Formats: sequence, C-alpha cells, structure tokens
Amino acid sequence: MILKGNGVSPGIALGQVVLYEPITFDIDKEYCGANEKATEQERFDEALIKAHEELDQLINAAKSEEQAGIFSAHKEILDDDEILEMVAEGISEQSQTAQGAVRSVYTEFIALVEKAPNPLIANRADDFRDVRDRLLGVLQDKKSQDLSQIKSPCILAAKVLLPSETAALDHNNILGIITEEGGATSHTAIIANSFGIPAVVGAADCLRLLSEGVYIGLDALTGEIYIKPDAETEAFLLKKQEAFKERNRQSDLFLDKPNLLADGTPYEIGVNIGGIFTAETFKYSSFAGVFRTEFLYMESPCLPEEEEQYRAYCRVLKAAGKRPVTLRTMDIGGDKTLPYMKLQKEENPFLGLRALRLCFAKPELLYTQLRAALRSALHGNLRIMLPMAGSIEDIRMGRKMLNDVKAQLEEEGIPFGKAEFGIMIEIPSIAAVIDLAVREVDFASIGTNDLCQYLSATDRMNPTVADYYQTFSPAMMRTLHHVISVFNKEGKDISVCGEMAGDERGALLLCGLGLRKFSMEPNKIAKVKEILAGITTEKAKEIADKARNAATQEEVLMLLG
Ligand code: PEP
Ligand code: MG
Repeated sequence: MILKGNGVSPGIALGQVVLYEPITFDIDKEYCGANEKATEQERFDEALIKAHEELDQLINAAKSEEQAGIFSAHKEILDDDEILEMVAEGISEQSQTAQGAVRSVYTEFIALVEKAPNPLIANRADDFRDVRDRLLGVLQDKKSQDLSQIKSPCILAAKVLLPSETAALDHNNILGIITEEGGATSHTAIIANSFGIPAVVGAADCLRLLSEGVYIGLDALTGEIYIKPDAETEAFLLKKQEAFKERNRQSDLFLDKPNLLADGTPYEIGVNIGGIFTAETFKYSSFAGVFRTEFLYMESPCLPEEEEQYRAYCRVLKAAGKRPVTLRTMDIGGDKTLPYMKLQKEENPFLGLRALRLCFAKPELLYTQLRAALRSALHGNLRIMLPMAGSIEDIRMGRKMLNDVKAQLEEEGIPFGKAEFGIMIEIPSIAAVIDLAVREVDFASIGTNDLCQYLSATDRMNPTVADYYQTFSPAMMRTLHHVISVFNKEGKDISVCGEMAGDERGALLLCGLGLRKFSMEPNKIAKVKEILAGITTEKAKEIADKARNAATQEEVLMLLG
C-alpha cells in the first residue's frame, strides 16, 4: 500500500514506524469563584516561572542554535505583554481558572495566526500551540512522551510535530519523519532539512493507516510512503537511496574546494537567511546575500520593538563573523500579512502596499527598523537593503529616511555603525532605469523570484498560472543581462539572492550573464559549486548569449541539456 504526501526534506529511509501521539489537555475546571481568583492568578504566575525554567533547561541542552532559537522564541511568547494581560483579565474579569484562561487566550491567538494566507505565518501557530501546551502541562502536572528518549533508529509518524518536539529529536536515531499536517516552511521541514532527515508532510490519515513497528519505505523525493514494501520495492528504494547518497557525496566534495570556475575565474557564494541560522549556516559562504527580516514581524504577536530587533540583528552578525550581512528591511504585504496590523483589504495585494511602500505609508515601521539595524552595525559588517524599490524616488526616499535616522541617533548620543546602502532589483521599472539607479546605491541584489513575477505578470503563488512563471524566459535573460552588465561596468557590487542563484542551471546562466556573486539556501551550495567548477567563463558566456537570443524558454532550457 502506498500513501502520498509532500516531500519537504529530500532523501529515502527504510525502517520501523514509531507513532507519536501527544497527550491532550482536557480542562477539568474552566471557571472559578470570586474568592479563588487570586489563587488562580498565583497558579498562573508560578506556571509561567516553571515554563521558563523548562525552556532554559532545553536551551542549555540544545544541540544546535536552531533548537536554542526555537526555545528562546517560546520564552518571548511566554512574556508577551498582550497575552499576559489577556490571561490576567480572563481570571479577574471572566472568572476563568488559570487553565481556562491559558487555553482560551492562546487558542484565540492560534486561530488568528492560522488564518493568515501566507504559510510562513500560519505555521507559526505551532509555536503558540507549543507554548500553550507547555503551560497547560505545568498546570496539570502532565508530560508528553519524551521524543529525545527514542534510542533506536526509526521513522517517526505524527499528526503534527510541534517545534519543541521536532527540536527534541535525537537526529541520529530518526531515519525519517512523516506528518499528517504541516507545509514546506514548517519547523519540521526546516529542522529535517538542516539535519538531512528525509521528511514527508501532509500525508493524510497516516496515523490511522500506519501501525506501531510496521516496516515502511519513505521516499521523500516523491512524497511516497510504501507500507510493508515487497522485496522488489525494497530493493528499488535501497538502490535509489544509495544513488541519492552517492550523488550528494559527490557534490559535497566541492564544498571545500575554492570558488573557481574551470578556467580559474573566482566567484563568491553567499547564503540566504531568515529566523533560523547557526554559525554553521555561514560555513561555506563569504557573505549573506539576503537576511529576510520578516520572520521577526511574523513570529511576534505584536510589532517587534527596537530592542528586540537590535538583539536579533546582533545575533545574526555574531554568527556571521566578519562576513557582510545584507539586512533586507521588512517585506510585509503581498501574501505576508500581520495578524496584529489591520490593513485595508486590497484587490491585488502583490501590486499593493507591499514592503517599501508599506514602510512609506507607515514610516515609523522603517524608522524603528533602521534604528535597530544601524545600532547593530557596530557589532559586525552590515549592509542595509530596501526591497521592492520601483523608482529613483523610492531609492531617494529610502536613503533620506536612513539619513534622518542617523541624524536622530547622533542627536540622542546613541552609538551606531556604518552600513552600505542598497536595493533589491525585483520590479521591472527599476531594471528599466538601472543606469540611473546604479548611481544612487552602493550595491544591489537581484530578486529573481519577484522579478519573474512582475516581468511576466504572473502571481508567483498561483498554481493555475504556474506555466506562465518562466524564470528562464528570454525576457528574464535580457533583463538580467542588462542589470548585471550596468553594475559590472560601474564597478558596483551586484549579486542574485532569488531562487535562480541556487538552481544549478540558473547559476550557470547567471554566470554566463556576468554574475560573480550567488546567494542561496545553504543546502544548495554544493551542487552550485559542482556545476560552476565544470564550466569556463567563455563557455558560460556562449550559452548565456544564445539564451538571450533564444525565442522561447524551451529553447533556453534546451541549451542547458
Ligand atoms: C526575490 O524576490 O527573489 C527574493 C529574494 O525575495 P523574496 O523571495 O523574499 O520575495
Ligand atoms: Mg522578493
């Protein structure tokens, strides 16, 4: 029998299933009498301290900064002022017990976050669920099965794995992960990827169809789960597993090689980062091409304050060491909405008040972020980059706001560091005037994901028009060539941080178009280095020239074999 889900961390695993069903927290007493309110508040305060202690222990025992980061974020949720106030009100005004108030307040937040159309935000609901269950566990003196105690190799199957549960796993004993729920951006996917554990999510009904100890084959390359595979299927999966491992071993050999094309031309590799990173994340890179700061806004139940942002930026700079970190100011709007920020509903959000435009409409957002960024610049090599700049006016307005913030900090006597100023090139209107834009900035990074969306007028999130979203179209080739050439001619720094840079064929074409700085997710580096090591400048240029002169995307792809 075969089950199907979505492979979110590649690889193949064969082994016995361990089913994980967390305990549920039924509340025996939801309301209390007037004379019990003070005691209930005390119980909550004590539970809060205990939950903090548990999280501190988990942070100390964490095996990676990723894990520690998840638990630190949970501590911040525990201390969220709005939640604390709502719990206190629930007890004092609605006569809820501590348990009743925790459940209703957190459940309200979870429902709000879950409704977000962007899966990145919706997935954060798991963090609130996790913290709620921790508090209820303390209040009821109950504990779920401890996943860190799994001591023999197995494939773990669960309805959903909360962040702390995923983080607790001993990755040496987890051959694979299957969940009924969760998406490509869930914590399960992120952590499974970082440990190289094959994972399939969205495998509907898997808990009913799998039983404890049953032997299965998990193919996370196709999303297929084979229950009790026959000898032929098992042999097929083992062969595929070996080929996958061998392919990765071959590519991984390139990780430690110098960044040189086949003719000795040097290039640079950067990493793209979001909320989860470790010093290891930067290992094979010389810069961070984009640090997406949205996660700070999306993970927080309210607008993150300057101090919180400052601390988060310092953490990244510390992990990056001397490498330049390109902090991209918030790219909220489009599909990324914030539950706590009421914005007018738009007919076409991707063409609406997104990123820089939202910051211009609510300047305090950008002022706070720039203050935190400039202060953090004292602790590393920071560059500030504006997303969705569409015109020279946008760039000048952004620079003016940056200068205003510097003047303000100076006036207040608050120390801050230097930061280069740049933009993302992802709107065709800025590409069309790139000869003018280049003079206004220190550097730029091309966001091929949005550039393709706006150049081809194709919603990047809409599967029904996916065929129109052509990253390798001749129109993309020409636009990219134009932008890269202008920056190269001016001697200004240009990189690509869109998905194209981490795609083997994309990197090869970009190299031929003149690009020498490629920024990507860390797990893409080995394969990109492998392909670049095998090509000369001349050959790459020859292919890219033909691609620019091709008539269709199909012709471009044919050039790449
Ligand atoms: C891009 O548009 O290519 C990019 C890197 O930004 P994001 O994917 O975050 O929109
Ligand atoms: Mg973008």
